[in-house]
Amino acid sequence: MSDQPAYKRVLLKVSGEALMGSRDYGLDTAVCRRIAEDVKGVVDLGVEVCLVIGGGNIFRGVAGAAAGMDRAQADSIGMLATVMNALAMQSALEKIGVPTRVQSAIPMSSVCEPFIRRRAVRHMEKGRVVIFAAGTGNPFFTTDTAAALRAAEMGCDALLKGTQVDGVYSADPRKNPAAERYVTLTYLDMLARDLAVMDAAAISLARENHLPIIVFNIHEPGAFTAVMKGEGRFTTVHEDH
Ligand code: UDP
Repeated sequence: MSDQPAYKRVLLKVSGEALMGSRDYGLDTAVCRRIAEDVKGVVDLGVEVCLVIGGGNIFRGVAGAAAGMDRAQADSIGMLATVMNALAMQSALEKIGVPTRVQSAIPMSSVCEPFIRRRAVRHMEKGRVVIFAAGTGNPFFTTDTAAALRAAEMGCDALLKGTQVDGVYSADPRKNPAAERYVTLTYLDMLARDLAVMDAAAISLARENHLPIIVFNIHEPGAFTAVMKGEGRFTTVHEDH
């Protein structure tokens, strides 16, 4: 394998759950630090990196709605949770010398920039990591869809989804030892098999924009860098044949 990364610009989606580590709720700063180190490793390869951070470690709109809240209102709370996570990741990245900007889809000018696509592109050209917060800014969406949307808008070569396991499996490998890992899958396979890795809106958006999705284990130190070099274990989701 070549030492040169295969990608020029990528978007990494990190779920809120990933930032929680082994806790039941909230942020584990040690996990944020470790993920920041991995992002730095990829930036050091010369790849432009942007991030979308979820909020499920703090609040999910669906759960709020199930408990009797108005869904749109609950989703606004969920989006605000992603801003907290984004600020925590910014802090972790800047601590290790990675210049970072947070752009929020819900303007919050005293803590971060508003989302301005052209400005985000400029930040990335200057070597800054841009963290997109507050999802799409709309209720009834997820941060997976926000990740596909921002990756398309930013002209990324790939959308990376860091998960708890090293790719897409036929069943949950933590529950079913017979589960098989797919090396490649098409967008239609993902949609038809309802593989619960990303929601259908995100997969459809990636498919329409010819954006490969790469699923890998965010908890394995160095895995992000390895994936960028075409090494390690991951699943690639690509064009239908
Ligand atoms: N959310 C939303 N619109 C978006 C993105 C997120 O309303 O475009 C809300 C939604 O309530 C969601 C919460 O933010 O449950 C947290 O995002 P998500 O569940 O995608 O986080 P993750 O599962 O990645 O931690």
